[in-house]
Amino acid sequence: MSTLKLGWVGLGNMGKPMVKNLLRAGFAVTVFNRTKSKEKELIDAGAKSADSPQELAENCDVIFTMLSNDVAVKEIFEGANGFLSKPIQEKLFIDMSTVSPETSRYLSTACNKHGMNFLEAPVSGSVKPAQDGTLIILIGGTAENYEKAKPVFDVLGKLSIYLGGAGVGSSAKLAINYLLGLNLQGFAETILFAEKNGVSKQDMLTIVNESACGNGITKLKSASILNNDYPAAFALKHLVKDLNLAKEAGLHSPLIEPLSDSYTKAMQQGLGDEDVMAIMKYLTTQ
Ligand code: NAP
Repeated sequence: MSTLKLGWVGLGNMGKPMVKNLLRAGFAVTVFNRTKSKEKELIDAGAKSADSPQELAENCDVIFTMLSNDVAVKEIFEGANGFLSKPIQEKLFIDMSTVSPETSRYLSTACNKHGMNFLEAPVSGSVKPAQDGTLIILIGGTAENYEKAKPVFDVLGKLSIYLGGAGVGSSAKLAINYLLGLNLQGFAETILFAEKNGVSKQDMLTIVNESACGNGITKLKSASILNNDYPAAFALKHLVKDLNLAKEAGLHSPLIEPLSDSYTKAMQQGLGDEDVMAIMKYLTTQ
């Protein structure tokens, strides 16, 4: 077992099950979350708690962030009591959030300037793969830092892929989430179109899932569609963020604008904190 002492900032839908897996695998983990009440379950499972990101960094060798967006990640690195407020050389910081390639490159440069190491490691896969330790982890940074962190990635995911320098991992993540958005928008439109013409939801879901058009995500989201209940695994607001990041990173395809417009309007209708599949609810009103 690795003797690396791990730190973890961000205990949302993804961070919490990922830390649980690390504890189960025998790693010593110290956690910090802005809303402290979310730490309790992990402390009960054996984690330590830090009062600030800075304190966490002082006591750990490898420090992970799994936060909402670019603003949150920059705040934890650069804010008061952030990692860069009192830089400590040699530590390895790994951001697993989905952020822009530009933010990853920026943080990598800022860390390196102070003798700190940085990797980006955004993930493909939602809460269930996070719970099962079957995420796909997309690495950007140096190969040396990747090798150091690999024993941890082996617990969190079924696959970690080293893709190149900082920014490349985020670019891969934005690309796969574009496909996710297209998939779910198309899935929702298909079910609603069929229903309008007399095909029941249940029957159309069976047809899709038994056909070559069915896939892991259509199967995973079918129960939510049937129950018309969309508790967040991947919050719709996060996909809106990712589609905007993809546009900023140069995605100018025929479908990106209507796609991003559809999810943005769904968010404006108050669906941002529901699961991304709640795009069904928005499309029902169109
Ligand atoms: P989430 O449930 O919304 O959790 C967000 C976390 O970020 C919480 O711990 C939250 O703290 C923290 N946070 C937000 N703003 C902050 C700030 N300004 N300062 C400090 N902490 C802040 O998100 P998630 O679903 O775990 O996703 C995390 C990241 O992974 C996102 O970038 C998302 O796009 C990506 N991702 C998600 C999924 C998924 O299926 N959920 C899959 C792949 C990738 P509080 O608890 O205090 O709010």
